[in-house]
Amino acid sequence: MNWSRYYDKCTHCGTEEWKHIGKGFCKKCYPLMKKLEIIEKWDTSNISSLKVVKPINIKAITLLIKSNKIENAKESLLKQIRSQLHLYKIYNSDDTVDGIKIENLFYSISRITNNLSTSNVFREAANRYNYNFNNDQRRIICKDLLMILINRRFYLNIWQDV
Ligand SMILES: [Zn+2]
Repeated sequence: MNWSRYYDKCTHCGTEEWKHIGKGFCKKCYPLMKKLEIIEKWDTSNISSLKVVKPINIKAITLLIKSNKIENAKESLLKQIRSQLHLYKIYNSDDTVDGIKIENLFYSISRITNNLSTSNVFREAANRYNYNFNNDQRRIICKDLLMILINRRFYLNIWQDV
């Protein structure tokens, strides 16, 4: 049985891991593609193009316009959405998972939680995962760590200087 009527796998992440939602995209990729499409069309000179998309509500949009930060917000959100889409591709990749990949994921997670003091804890993690785990086990660990990064909420880091 085909994954969907016209597609045999998600045209973005390239797998059948999640069910088809629309236009050749799975449950995970579709909402992100939709968000990307809406935000890409944001045009500061045309207020009606500024369609609301989570996590941005109408109040936030109004504030962004007032403070002249809508372009920064657009750029920042597009970057985050593209990065999540990219992580879904890695999540489903069949590549070998070596210890260094896991160590790097730990560093990324430390960075997004702003907990840099913990990054030392993961030094040498690569060796530990190479010696004590096989590739299948490392893949499970890798997927769990990727999920932490993927499930991160979108944020606007432009408010500090508003
Ligand atoms: Zn997908």
